[in-house]
Amino acid sequence: MFLRELTGPLSGVRGVGRSLADILSRAGITTIAELLSYYPRDWEDRGFAVPLVDFRRYPAVNTVVRVLAHDWFGFGRMKTLKIYIEDESARAALVCFNRPFLEKQLVAGKYYRLWGKFFYKYGEIQSSAFETELLPEGAARPDGSPVRSGAFSPGAGGGSILPVYRLTAGLSQNVLRRIMKNALDAYAASIDDELPAPLAARDGFLPRSEAVRAIHFPKTMAELAEARRLLIYEELFYLEILVGKRALERRRPPASPAQGPSPGGDGGAALSPLQERLLERLPFALTAGQRGAVQEINADMAGQWPMARLLQGDVGAGKTLVSFLAALRAVEETPRGQAAIMAPTELLARQHAENAARLLEPLGIRIAFLTGNLNARGRARLLAALAAGDIDVVVGTHALFSRGTVYRNLRLVVVDEQHRFGVTQRQAILDKGDHPHLLMMSATPIPRTLAFTVFGDMDVSVIPDLPPGRKPVKTHLARESSEERVYDFVRKELAAGRQAYFVYPLIGDDPAGASQDDEAAVAGGVKAAAAMAGRLAKEVFPSWPVTLVHARLDEEEKRARMEAFRRGTVRVLVATSVVEVGVDVPNATCMVIEHAGRFGLAALHQLRGRVGRGDAQSYCFLVYEDGETGEGSAGALSGDAKKRLMVMLEHNDGFVIAEEDLKLRGPGQIAGTEQSGYLSLGLADPVRDAACLARAREDAFSLLASDPPLLLPEHQRVREVLARAAPFSDVSL
Ligand code: ADP
Ligand code: MG
Repeated sequence: MFLRELTGPLSGVRGVGRSLADILSRAGITTIAELLSYYPRDWEDRGFAVPLVDFRRYPAVNTVVRVLAHDWFGFGRMKTLKIYIEDESARAALVCFNRPFLEKQLVAGKYYRLWGKFFYKYGEIQSSAFETELLPEGAARPDGSPVRSGAFSPGAGGGSILPVYRLTAGLSQNVLRRIMKNALDAYAASIDDELPAPLAARDGFLPRSEAVRAIHFPKTMAELAEARRLLIYEELFYLEILVGKRALERRRPPASPAQGPSPGGDGGAALSPLQERLLERLPFALTAGQRGAVQEINADMAGQWPMARLLQGDVGAGKTLVSFLAALRAVEETPRGQAAIMAPTELLARQHAENAARLLEPLGIRIAFLTGNLNARGRARLLAALAAGDIDVVVGTHALFSRGTVYRNLRLVVVDEQHRFGVTQRQAILDKGDHPHLLMMSATPIPRTLAFTVFGDMDVSVIPDLPPGRKPVKTHLARESSEERVYDFVRKELAAGRQAYFVYPLIGDDPAGASQDDEAAVAGGVKAAAAMAGRLAKEVFPSWPVTLVHARLDEEEKRARMEAFRRGTVRVLVATSVVEVGVDVPNATCMVIEHAGRFGLAALHQLRGRVGRGDAQSYCFLVYEDGETGEGSAGALSGDAKKRLMVMLEHNDGFVIAEEDLKLRGPGQIAGTEQSGYLSLGLADPVRDAACLARAREDAFSLLASDPPLLLPEHQRVREVLARAAPFSDVSL
């Protein structure tokens, strides 16, 4: 049986009753497989005694103590228990916050094993993070003095290394360790290997069943390392098997190949007639990066397999235009193709549709805008036109792929801001055509290592340059209390004919109604967009029109307000992060982000990317809350928030910012990756384990190349894992 097939309920584990099962389910653990795959976040080697006196020299004390006395301090409900203890080296105090029950458990005069993190405070050695265990009778010397060696008891698994798990309310390390032990005793032996035997033999991996036991209760640190080595490799191997299979599937030519517009000879990279005509009409030339990307796209589309290309380019690099050029290429095929351009928000989709109408309609291209907000009649008409082939390029949100949407001949799918979409949505649109070309675009750069894992089956184009004449945005930090100076600055820009954005983390009390989170935060002194829009309009910028845009506005209203800002009739746009992606108003030169410490790096970078889109010098003000020293006062800037703002101050390059983001947050958290679910790895970390990833990828790809349908006997196990255990079922790019 594979571990993932242990789908029985937790009631099958000794020691798990109803209430414990409930608590575990809150941590996402409902089956035996989920329990056994709930890996420790850390391990503690308790075979190593550390007396109290050495509390500074080691991360934790690990000793045997005698309880001396109990004491209570504080009043009423705040009353806290304090327990005085000593070992052979020193005296110390255990401060038992919220653990009054320890009064009964730690009896004066008795001996206990103690493990804890100690510090020096109020003239004594103290701990409030500790675990204790009654020393078994006879473990102390006959004279009553405690033994010193091997201070803490062996872990439940028999070794002295104990797992440390992430806990949820109601769950303790001891309870989790105990049931984990029970589950392992009952089920570990039945767990089968998942790797093909020749691979396991080559690398000398532990059997899977051993590794599962050892990841929880390793006998030695070396054994733990061995268990991790197998489990990490295995995760990455199957991830790459899936990526590789996906690549094989893509490399299947469509049933009825289309004829491209330009004859070969250059590999199909040359511009098509319509592409030439669009470029002639533009007031500017393509940047070198844009030109390169278009050539790569054209060559792909002329090739025998459907394109699968990721187009990366920093905010403002001009990706939209590249996607329009790709759309023209698709329309020019014989038979005439259709292109669908999908954006994550209505706002952005509408902007693309308007640009497409402006740029492509003069070339005779029929454009449509499909949103979920269309009324029934408009929608029916549009869908009929789409199905009949009377529309060439359709721009929209998810509506593009809803069930009722049928295409005549969908040849190209463009996914803008791809990190905003889940993988199933991507798949849904591809299913609307016969192996259409896929172009995914992202301004949130995925660090190379990660791109390699996740988009391992895609080709990548990078636009490394920004259009000429762009000046880097000047970024300033400003305290909330000196905001007047920011306002003064913005006034000057407005007087010079420019426009400004003000962005807030919350919507606040708009007629649309605030959420409870909002209310709590507003009560905590966080400025909200709705209230600030009023204030900015009345008090700060009385001579200029100000408007408010946020996600809860009615679609038509949102459109009208954005349009007014784009035309320049509105000069100050107050918003939430709805303007984060894609919005393009080149005359705007000021981006003021309030409570900037509350935004993530990716969002800050995207927001700043809304300015600096024209020739004029642009500015970004990151306004942070006062009391920034980080001493824990409510609303103060946390250490990480400060680091983020410093990164923004020092860097303009999206790739650098993404790498910094990675350092600050860890790879599981890369902007967008968690919600799109393409990295549901357990132990593996594609950045840290890059070498292992490369090896796993090579193994997986060569295995697939030698035997694509996985029919050879030595590949049977891989086939079975894929069929029976559906690993990473959500990793289906
Ligand atoms: P992003 O890559 O962030 O999606 P956009 O496609 O929104 O960038 O382009 C940003 C702005 O740059 C738009 O106003 C667009 O018209 C303009 N632009 C695109 N390509 C060029 C170019 N080659 N030269 C000058 N401006 C360009
Ligand atoms: Mg864009």
